[in-house]
Amino acid sequence: MKVLEKAPAKINLSLDVLGKRSDGYHEVRMVMTTIDLADRVECSELPDNQIILHSSAPYVPEDERNFAYQAAQLIKDKYAIQKGVEITIQKRIPVAAGLAGGSSDAAAAIRALDRLWHLGMTYEEMLETASMIGSDVAFCIKGGTALATGRGEKISMLPELPPCWVVLVKPDISVSTGEIYKAWDHIVATHPDVDAMIHAISDNDFSTICYLLGNTLETVTMEKVAEIARIKEHMRQIGAEGILMSGSGPTVFGLTQYESRMQRLLNGMKGYCSQVYAVRLCRPFTLLSEYE
Ligand code: ATP
Repeated sequence: MKVLEKAPAKINLSLDVLGKRSDGYHEVRMVMTTIDLADRVECSELPDNQIILHSSAPYVPEDERNFAYQAAQLIKDKYAIQKGVEITIQKRIPVAAGLAGGSSDAAAAIRALDRLWHLGMTYEEMLETASMIGSDVAFCIKGGTALATGRGEKISMLPELPPCWVVLVKPDISVSTGEIYKAWDHIVATHPDVDAMIHAISDNDFSTICYLLGNTLETVTMEKVAEIARIKEHMRQIGAEGILMSGSGPTVFGLTQYESRMQRLLNGMKGYCSQVYAVRLCRPFTLLSEYE
């Protein structure tokens, strides 16, 4: 039997860091939403007790360093599964780009294995496994629009955003999330208004959402990747209604509700950067346990 799951990328609409905790993690408050740029994660049962993983992209580990592999190992241990699984990941999300590609693959693997092995996992059980893998995995279990707090593992779902286009521009450089957080510890940070963003989303107010876009990590990554400021300026000139760097970067996204402006952004930015995408938002997943 084979199970296929979509693993959508996320963007951060508001990302605040409250400080470093005694356990070494950072306390965050983030509003995130999933978008229709997605990997595909396929899980097929193997008769013997092993995990095999293939990824279509270079530089993505295919062993226990892969977050989807870790998800399979954790689930096998927790539910004492004596069978194996072959995981095939078709990557479309750029790697180390601030789009949570690896985390979304892990969340997709959790949903897929719940179906493949008929585990009947609740949302809370999925969150528990997710938070053992990485900070963004919990959000990716359901996706949609949500507030993530703690180190990212506490999720409160929010209403869906007004329909819009998301144009993504990924500079040809990757950044390490760990290094960006480390550098953040040494700057005088600016803090976005996360609560106001939540209100704007509840009010379905697109222009205020665009106005409030904010990411405390942006200035840190911008110092390392000068291209980010140039991309933002270019997108502003073309007419994106809201512009921000996602996660720890370096991907920059622009929002617009107009198809003509999306086309202009897509064409304009393609002449500027090799990796440019225009996508829609992605609705949250309905989990198997919610059908009951
Ligand atoms: P985040 O926004 O959550 O910080 P990111 O988008 O910046 O994540 P990822 O694409 O998730 O970064 O990749 C970060 C690192 O994770 C990669 O360099 C890679 O070594 C490792 N990794 C583990 N599993 C995966 C996976 N399934 N896909 C991509 N990278 C993975």
